Amino acid sequence: MNKYITLLFCLLLAFGSCRKTATNPEVLPNTYSDQALGKSANDLLSGSKYTSLNVQVQYMPGYSLDTGTISALSAYLNMLCNKPGGISITQAQIAGNGGDSLTVDQVAVLEVKNRTAYTSGTTLDVYILVTDGYDTAGTVLGFAYRNTSIALMGKAIFDHSGGFGEIGRAALESSVLEHEFGHLLGLVNLGTPMQVFHQDTAHGNHCNNANCLMHYSIETNGAFNIFHPATIPVLDSNCRNDLHANGGK
Ligand SMILES: [Zn+2]
Ligand SMILES: [Zn+2]
Repeated sequence: MNKYITLLFCLLLAFGSCRKTATNPEVLPNTYSDQALGKSANDLLSGSKYTSLNVQVQYMPGYSLDTGTISALSAYLNMLCNKPGGISITQAQIAGNGGDSLTVDQVAVLEVKNRTAYTSGTTLDVYILVTDGYDTAGTVLGFAYRNTSIALMGKAIFDHSGGFGEIGRAALESSVLEHEFGHLLGLVNLGTPMQVFHQDTAHGNHCNNANCLMHYSIETNGAFNIFHPATIPVLDSNCRNDLHANGGK
């Protein structure tokens, strides 16, 4: 979040007063949705401010989410979030990016360009972008980068699933997506306080249980090596307890 403010400052310096209408390409036209990762954890988990949840998925050509992934995400969110008004997930295609690798900042710009659904009233909106390439480092399958924003590296997930002896695509896609959603929900120690210490501090905001969905390996290339093809990891009791204590089911 702060880096976006810094960037805006730099752009204004560069263009000076002759570009009064210059806007930061990474700033969303909705202040609620332009916050740091973890800031909406309680809003997502509890039903006190926001009673409904909409998830807008936009995918680049060839990389729509598997119907099994949509079902798994729906079940996951209904299991964790108090949303008496309902949880809906929609997906639509957007223009491709030529398969190029993307940085987090470039993904953030694409979100500004394409996202149409924003939080208002009592409905919270989350955005998921599925790209047609890899991240620039080529090491992650997805990442969460704002309070209600997630990116999946569609091609990276496709390339590492569905083959002989590999994890199924829906299983890998679901695992990565549910893991990234876990970060939006404030895991681990990222907006949702820990009830007991279980943070793998060497790997940022991840769980120290290698069998937990929030273990760092889920979003990296380790995911397709350590999990049996049929297995989607779940949240362990420490992560579940944290979510429950912060307003979740
Ligand atoms: Zn993670
Ligand atoms: Zn955990």
